[in-house]
Amino acid sequence: MTEQEEMIDGIKSHGKQKKGMAHLIHYLEGRQLTQRQAIHGYCYHCCGFGEEEDCEVITCPLYPFAPYSSKKRVIPARRKKP
Ligand code: SF4
Repeated sequence: MTEQEEMIDGIKSHGKQKKGMAHLIHYLEGRQLTQRQAIHGYCYHCCGFGEEEDCEVITCPLYPFAPYSSKKRVIPARRKKP
């Protein structure tokens, strides 16, 4: 069994059914993901396979895009050239 197959088995038997789960499994199966799907899959993995509701790691650059974050995406205003 490959590392990817072992991880898929682990996710299916112990992971929570949450956003990002399917994307992570699809990635491990070798399918292509969009950037958003990749972020959701990564956050699912990072949150203990769906254990945490909101990681609250506001210093993480993925946080504004995280599937469970409570903060809305904030786009900083562009600086004007002098
Ligand atoms: S936003 Fe949170 S869950 Fe997503 S990668 Fe960053 S720390 Fe992990």
